[in-house]
Amino acid sequence: MRPATTMDVCQASPRVPRCPLWSKISVALLLTMAQANTVACTKETSSTNALPKTESTAAPQPSPQTVPPDNAPLPHIDAARAFQYTREVTAFGPRYMGSENHKKLERYIASHLQGDQVEDDAFTTDTVEGKFPVHNIIAKFPGEKDGIIVIMGHYDTNYPLRNMGFVGANDGGSSTAILLEYANQLRGKKRDGYSVWLVWTDGEEAVQQWSDTDSLYGTRHLAEKWDKDGTLKKIKALMVMDMIADADLDIVRATNGAPWLLDLIYAAAQRGGYQSHFYATEGAIEDDHVPFFKLGVPCADVIDLDYGYNNVFHHTTQDTMDKLSPKSMEIVGDTILETIHLLDQR
Ligand SMILES: [Zn+2]
Repeated sequence: MRPATTMDVCQASPRVPRCPLWSKISVALLLTMAQANTVACTKETSSTNALPKTESTAAPQPSPQTVPPDNAPLPHIDAARAFQYTREVTAFGPRYMGSENHKKLERYIASHLQGDQVEDDAFTTDTVEGKFPVHNIIAKFPGEKDGIIVIMGHYDTNYPLRNMGFVGANDGGSSTAILLEYANQLRGKKRDGYSVWLVWTDGEEAVQQWSDTDSLYGTRHLAEKWDKDGTLKKIKALMVMDMIADADLDIVRATNGAPWLLDLIYAAAQRGGYQSHFYATEGAIEDDHVPFFKLGVPCADVIDLDYGYNNVFHHTTQDTMDKLSPKSMEIVGDTILETIHLLDQR
C-alpha cells in the first residue's frame, strides 16, 4: 500500500498513482496517502510508540479506558510452524479459483482440520470468466460466552496472473497459514470466552479487474447467508488477515472498520511491544471484511499493503517466500490472539 505511493507521497505535489495493482485500495486511501507525506516519509525512523501526528493520517492511539487492564500472560503462536505452513501452501504453486492446485489446497486445509467442527460453504459463482465452484471453509471452536469472533483469510490466489507463475506467498499463502496455526491454538477444550470461527475464504481475488462485482466472491455470498440465518447479529468482531508475513511489516489502519476494534488491536500490539508495526498509515481498503462491514458487523482488516518498496511485490511473481519472515507472522499472530483475549473480557 504505502510503497506504491511512497515516492508520490514524498514528492511535493500529491497525486494518485495509476498502477492497476492498486485495485484493493480505495481512492479515499490514495488521497489520504497523497496528503500524508509526513507519515510516509518519517515512518521508518519512528521506532517508538509515538505515531506521527498529522491531521489526515495520524492513527489515534486508544484512550486508556477503551482497554481493560489485563495481567494475563501474552499468548504466542508457533511462528515457525505457521511459516512452514506458508511454505507448504506456496509450494502448491498458483491456486486460483477453478484450478487443480486450488482443489489440492482445499484438501490440505481439510487434512489439518480433522476432528474439528468444519462447515463447507459451497456454491457456484458466475463471473466474467465463467462459472466457478467456490468453497468458504469454516472451522468452529465453541466458547462458553454467547457470541462469535470471526477470523478470516483468503486462500485463493490472483486469477489474472495464473499463467505467469504467481504463487502468492504473502497474498493468499500467509493468510491460509496463519489460520491453520490459529486452529492449532484453539482446538482442545471449550473456550472460556466467545466462540471463534476461522474462515478460509475463497474467491477474494478479481478474475479480471477489481470492482464491486468482480471481487470478494466468497465473502459476498457468506455475508448474505449469515444475514439471512441470523449469524451476523451474533458476531462480536470480525477480523480479516491478509498479507501479514512481509518481512518489513507495517499494518495499515484500515479506516473502514470499527474504530473501537482497531483501537483494541493497537492495544494488543502495545502489550506485545509490537506497536511500531501498526497503524503508522491509514486509509479505507477493499478486502474480505467489506461485505460484512456494509451490514453493520464490527470489522477490522489486518493487512500490510506496503509489500516491498513502492509495493513492488504485490500481485507480481516476486510475491515469494524469500520476502517473508516468521517474525512478522509472530507479531500479527500474537497480536490478534491477544485481541481475541481482550474481546473475551468485554
Ligand atoms: Zn491479492
